[in-house]
Amino acid sequence: MHAYGVSPEEWKDYIFQKGENAYRAEQIFSWIHGRQVLSAAQMLNLPQTLRESLSTDFEWPSEQQVQTLQSRRDATAKVLFEFDRRVIETVWLPYENRQSVCVSVQSGCSLNCTFCASGKMEFKGNLSAGEIVEQVYSSQNAIGKKVTNIVYMGMGEPFYNYDAVIKSAHLLHHPKGLNIGVRKITISTSGVLPGIIRFFEEEQPFQLAISLHAAFPEKRREIMDVEKKFPMQEMLKVLRANRKSLRNNQLTFEYVLIDGFNTGKEDIRELAKIAKDIGAKINLIPLNTEYNGMRRPDQATINQFWEQLNALGVVAVNRKSPGEDIAGACGQLAGKWAQKSPL
Ligand code: SF4
Repeated sequence: MHAYGVSPEEWKDYIFQKGENAYRAEQIFSWIHGRQVLSAAQMLNLPQTLRESLSTDFEWPSEQQVQTLQSRRDATAKVLFEFDRRVIETVWLPYENRQSVCVSVQSGCSLNCTFCASGKMEFKGNLSAGEIVEQVYSSQNAIGKKVTNIVYMGMGEPFYNYDAVIKSAHLLHHPKGLNIGVRKITISTSGVLPGIIRFFEEEQPFQLAISLHAAFPEKRREIMDVEKKFPMQEMLKVLRANRKSLRNNQLTFEYVLIDGFNTGKEDIRELAKIAKDIGAKINLIPLNTEYNGMRRPDQATINQFWEQLNALGVVAVNRKSPGEDIAGACGQLAGKWAQKSPL
């Protein structure tokens, strides 16, 4: 098991089994999540024997970053990791008032959204909670700034790796660790209904984002396989029924803007209707780079789309597409690297 993915309760059990004093569990947790040490050898207030056991009983980060690319245009950076012969990527997104890290939850993705490079890569399975947490700590080390926001929007579908995702989010939120607020941790699903239902049932406190990307089911089916398995009408029913259990602003629909495909007047009207009905805000994401025959709309179209949503009474955020010069879109860089690599 990866040491970064061990919960406080699991450390207590481990320490109990080792016959050590209970307070050692808290010390270990603080070293890992408070100071983000890379090895047990750095935990200087622990007995030597315990440090040795920790080194052999757990996996530790081995500075596996294979590549770090920093955008010259907007300070976005991509960090590639290799976990157990699986290549994944993490994106660092600096904004004026926050530093966000976009983490991956799987190597590749078993879904196949037509606008996304991750879906075209060979799927190599889920990442563990520790591997997700490691992306945050290592990116922070590589960039030299403190992370303030986490988005689960990199490679893979979070709700196909539910346990590891939720566990990592709680570790990153822990007051003895990075202490990232629940409103600053966003889990983004393509619409995997069993995961959404479980998120509500467990009353998870994190922000929930749902990739809608089209306001009409038949259009959505063209670009997102998940629509065939979990139709959006079913999903909207569940969201409507559970809306009251979510806080204000806890729910967002992601909408990737693809030129000539989902940017028409009827798209705006239907999207506004859905968002108002559910009480969700909209995050507009212009397609990052030209991909698979699809293009981002020009700036005038993007602005009009945003203004018209606002005029219809919907809160819409018009996000810039960062890191265009470093293949900023999900999966693009890891995909290129994997093609060149003997892995
Ligand atoms: S957009 Fe998300 S769900 Fe769709 S293929 Fe890419 S990583 Fe998977």
